[in-house]
Amino acid sequence: MSYLGENIRKLGFGLMRLPQTDGVIDVEQTKEMVDLFMDAGFTYFDTAWAYAGSEDAIRQALVERYPRESYQLATKNAAWINCKTKEEAYAQFDTSLKQTGAGYFDFYLLHNLGEARTEYFDKFDMWNWVAEKKAAGLIKHVGFSFHSTPEELEAILKEHPEMEFVQLQINYADWENPAIQSRGCYEVARKYGKPVIIMEPVKGGMLATPPESVVKVLKDAEPESSVASWAVRFAANLEGVITVLSGMSNIEQMKDNLSYMKDFNELNDAQLQTLKQAQEELNKIPLIPCTTCNYCAKVCPMQIGISGSFTAMNYLTLYGDKDMAVHQENWLVGGHGLKRVNECVKCGKCEEACPQHIQIRAELERVSENLLK
Ligand code: SF4
Ligand code: SF4
Repeated sequence: MSYLGENIRKLGFGLMRLPQTDGVIDVEQTKEMVDLFMDAGFTYFDTAWAYAGSEDAIRQALVERYPRESYQLATKNAAWINCKTKEEAYAQFDTSLKQTGAGYFDFYLLHNLGEARTEYFDKFDMWNWVAEKKAAGLIKHVGFSFHSTPEELEAILKEHPEMEFVQLQINYADWENPAIQSRGCYEVARKYGKPVIIMEPVKGGMLATPPESVVKVLKDAEPESSVASWAVRFAANLEGVITVLSGMSNIEQMKDNLSYMKDFNELNDAQLQTLKQAQEELNKIPLIPCTTCNYCAKVCPMQIGISGSFTAMNYLTLYGDKDMAVHQENWLVGGHGLKRVNECVKCGKCEEACPQHIQIRAELERVSENLLK
């Protein structure tokens, strides 16, 4: 059966983690990455109003340099970020149009539905609003990204059959993870006939540098393949997938992704077995499942360096090197002008925004115990 986007190639360029120099997106390097991607025949780009500087960068690197019909551009509306009125939420669309200069969006997503965040889209009647934009030709396809339970996904799809696709977090680490339920959500989307766009296939980069025991499993099976390639291939192997978004941050990552996605073949039984072993090894290590999406940072009133603290804490868990972990925390938090975890006022706003359902306040206490004392 044919489905929306089946002709789009299975690697999409996620624009959430573009290369930076001194904290500013490196547009020249982004241009080179866009050129490599387009030259290899890939065409799908995924940005969002909420990704600071990303829409502006892709205007310069892509929109102003390539014919509009030669690529698909997706962006997203995050009505739950600091919007008090529907006008404020709707205004994100105009900002996105202006920042990208794209004229229209091939794919437009209601961003990060699930839990309390869904209420904003209901309250502001974003469902009808987005249908009007589509009717006006400003959006070609409407869908939503989602981070919550399969039950909640099913409820939304029942109520909104007009949604054309769903964007889900799927990777081999989260496939059976009870906090993410990748498999359950994927199966609900397929049950409702919705094609899926996959995000976080490399889990915010975590599966590019997994623990040594996982690297060993993957390298023993295919010494020549990069560790990250397993994560992207796992996602691309699923049926009904429009594309797999990889949030590439440099030219090297782009080249690596292109090398194995250019001629992607289905995974065979031995490869699937290898991934199963990797999953088992990963499950043995209690890492904080933070993907550094920084949605929490957008709502934290104290500007606590949450994701940087978690990166440092994971470093400690993985390598047991406290000096290095403290050094990392210093740089990722203090070095970036953010506040230390001991200034957290425990308001819980971050936990409402976190797509990974991390008990942030409790984990921050652990950071404080282990790295600040
Ligand atoms: S609980 Fe702490 S870290 Fe979370 S939003 Fe509130 S102040 Fe920020
Ligand atoms: S704690 Fe949650 S919201 Fe914050 S960066 Fe990590 S995954 Fe994203």
